[in-house]
Amino acid sequence: MKVVVLGGGFGGVSTASELRNRSKDLGITLVDRKTRLEYQAAHPEILSGKVTPDETSGDLNKFTAKIGAEFINDTVVNIDFKAKKVKTGKEGREIPYDFLVISIGAEQTFFGITGAEERSCSVNTLKGAVETKNALDKLDFFAKEICIAVIGAGLTGVEVAGELIDYLRGKEASAGISIVEMMPRVLPTFPTENVSNYVAKFLSDRGVEILTETAVQEVREHEITFKNGKKRHYDIIIWTAGIKPNSLLEKLEVPKEKGWLKVDPYLRVEGMKDVFAVGDTVSFESEGVRAGQNVEEAERQGEVAAENIIKTIKAEKLKRYIPKNTIQNLRAFISLGSNKAVMYFRGMVIKVLAYRLKKFVEWNYMRRFK
Ligand SMILES: Cc1cc2nc3c(=O)[nH]c(=O)nc-3n(C[C@H](O)[C@H](O)[C@H](O)COP(=O)(O)OP(=O)(O)OC[C@H]3O[C@@H](n4cnc5c(N)ncnc54)[C@H](O)[C@@H]3O)c2cc1C
Repeated sequence: MKVVVLGGGFGGVSTASELRNRSKDLGITLVDRKTRLEYQAAHPEILSGKVTPDETSGDLNKFTAKIGAEFINDTVVNIDFKAKKVKTGKEGREIPYDFLVISIGAEQTFFGITGAEERSCSVNTLKGAVETKNALDKLDFFAKEICIAVIGAGLTGVEVAGELIDYLRGKEASAGISIVEMMPRVLPTFPTENVSNYVAKFLSDRGVEILTETAVQEVREHEITFKNGKKRHYDIIIWTAGIKPNSLLEKLEVPKEKGWLKVDPYLRVEGMKDVFAVGDTVSFESEGVRAGQNVEEAERQGEVAAENIIKTIKAEKLKRYIPKNTIQNLRAFISLGSNKAVMYFRGMVIKVLAYRLKKFVEWNYMRRFK
């Protein structure tokens, strides 16, 4: 029996680990176009130099060798669900499967805004974060006042702004940091305003300009035009706003919700018994509660999908997936630079020990790669 897992992020890696925990003789193949798992939550700290690319990523070759699985470093280009074969980019390779787990994550979106993709830096991928740090290092902070624009004041945007403060402090350089958000407050997807108010004050007290209700219309060389007609000079843009479904999903004839994969309560792709999906690639909603797209839920979904594959093989009753970290009941760590963070939990903003706890959680996620 062979299970093929597509994507070596947290969803895929947790599925493969749990499959091996539950079965010593199952064939497991992990496929990823990259050779390292990327811990995206730590990418903002690459900018300030607090963490290195190696520390924020894990070697998938070593991980699969450790759990006795096969690793194929290739890009998935299509899936033939009838023939039960995954097609990859290299020489039209076909990988047969008995069970398939799709965990290919999400992609960054620039919402089709003219000039945004070509002219922005990003921290969504490890390569992007390293390139952004290199672009910052190339700026001549002593020749003139440098303007850094962070687009999007979600979790990543505020963390990037915090790390930029530390980056500049380390260089003893002066620059203007602006954070641009189209919604009325920072952290707009967080259910309560207390966290938005706390983070906005923390950043503005340290000199960050916060522009809410300000939407980007166009990005030209060194100039952003906003929908309100105002224009602004920039030296570097770091785009943190928005994700969209992985473009591979467009090719797949499977049930989708606004482009995201639809799964049943057992994490099988709707209408299929041998194909599961986990992590950011999935849209999961049950009784009005929507699972968050975060590391915690990607890991939990991977564990449930693995358990349900083993249960299917043994013809046992499947386990329902119950999301915990949800859109309605969101919990998150938000690091703010200066070795400070807050934990958002049940609507409360917890400051004590939050940064240390965040670091412990990170260590715990990454220790399977040590
Ligand atoms: C900048 C940033 C900061 C974040 N901060 C936090 C945070 O603080 N806390 C938190 O909980 N979550 C955070 N998240 C979200 C979190 O990273 C994701 O929810 C989590 O990584 C989802 O895991 P996944 O396995 O579904 O997807 P991913 O980790 O994205 O993994 C998908 C994998 O699939 C591979 N893949 C994609 N397409 C193909 C293909 N066609 N062929 C082969 N391989 C393919 C990719 O290379 C990748 O390795 C952040 C995300 C970003 C971008």
